[in-house]
Amino acid sequence: MTNDSPNRSDVSDAGASTQAVHAGELREKLAHSITDPIVCASTYTFRDTQAVIDYIEEKQPRHEYGRYGSPGEKVVEAKLAALDGGEEAIVFATGMAAIVGVLMAKLKSGDEVIFFDECYHRSREFCTKHLSRFGVVTRQVKTGDYEAMEAAINPQTRLLVSESPTNPHLSVVDLDRFSAIGKRHGVETLIDATLATPFNVRPLQHGIDYVLHSATKYLGGHNDLLAGVIVGSKDQLEEVRNLRGIMGAINSPHNLYLLQRGLKTFGLRMQRHNENGQAIADFLDQHPRVERVYYPGIASHPYAEIAASTMQGFGGLVTFTLKDADWQETAKVVDRVQLFRIAPSLGGVESLIEQPLVISYFECTPEEREQFGISDNMIRIAAGIENAAYLIRDLEQALEK
Ligand code: PLP
Repeated sequence: MTNDSPNRSDVSDAGASTQAVHAGELREKLAHSITDPIVCASTYTFRDTQAVIDYIEEKQPRHEYGRYGSPGEKVVEAKLAALDGGEEAIVFATGMAAIVGVLMAKLKSGDEVIFFDECYHRSREFCTKHLSRFGVVTRQVKTGDYEAMEAAINPQTRLLVSESPTNPHLSVVDLDRFSAIGKRHGVETLIDATLATPFNVRPLQHGIDYVLHSATKYLGGHNDLLAGVIVGSKDQLEEVRNLRGIMGAINSPHNLYLLQRGLKTFGLRMQRHNENGQAIADFLDQHPRVERVYYPGIASHPYAEIAASTMQGFGGLVTFTLKDADWQETAKVVDRVQLFRIAPSLGGVESLIEQPLVISYFECTPEEREQFGISDNMIRIAAGIENAAYLIRDLEQALEK
């Protein structure tokens, strides 16, 4: 480890656990505090007119107005950039704000975007319902069908988007193949790696242009904040940062502090999420009432091989279906759990359980649910960091007829 600045530790090659603690942080802080202060300022003062001019001419790195950035944001962005091995990270108020920010900054009327169809449904909805009003065309192809994605590219195509792994089916994208398609056609690529996190996969290392996370999930990690982040090169993200300053989809200093604090235990938490996810998937895989388990760490999962070769671990999200159960019978299993909490979302310390049909797709038609691959007998678990034996015991009693 080298130390290029006496007031900052160089953790560029230190690995996720160390980067999550130290990246972006000064060694000497206000009042000799080990933690960063929460700077509750909407605006920042200048000594005199020359100081304003020095700031405009970029001679003096500092802050001007809260919508354009804050000290706490700078630290969090440095941590997230380091974790994903990117030059630049831009933090938004939510994951959706980050996706909307990137799409709005990158696309104009007449442009086209192509999605793998298991991508987060609100991202696709933003494109099909809203970007379409501005003349942007959205195409969707079956997840994992690389030939179809390549065939859908035309001279108007600007961006290829996928989630990996996907939610709730845990399909895993071959990132080398995905980025190669983009490069062959001069089209940028974006991976929503919310479920993987940089602990388990770093898409930029596979040649992907942008990696996106809902930091609401594992990065924040405590089910107590919403945030989003996009990571990539400084040049490619310049317009995104400018647009964010106009959109104003930023985090409050308090929220940023929560995110910074959550990140301190990122490495430890991810280790446990990975262990718990695998233990629960293995248990469900052997259970006589379980029809099918969706988890990349299970040998029968269609994406197990590509997951094993690209991911360090497979996270805490486990989806399964019940044998011979209608939606009411499935709901009974969800209602019988005692430790898991019934809620949407994932990536926090508390284990959650939900029936996708009820919690996210209740208002869809049966045809739409079939198209999204959401069956009546499906249950989704977001394993937290509790003791795996207790979680399994809870599932065992809930699955008893
Ligand atoms: N991407 C994925 C994979 C998600 O699961 C979610 C939220 O559930 C989002 C993006 C949007 O994030 P947020 O809820 O922080 O806006």
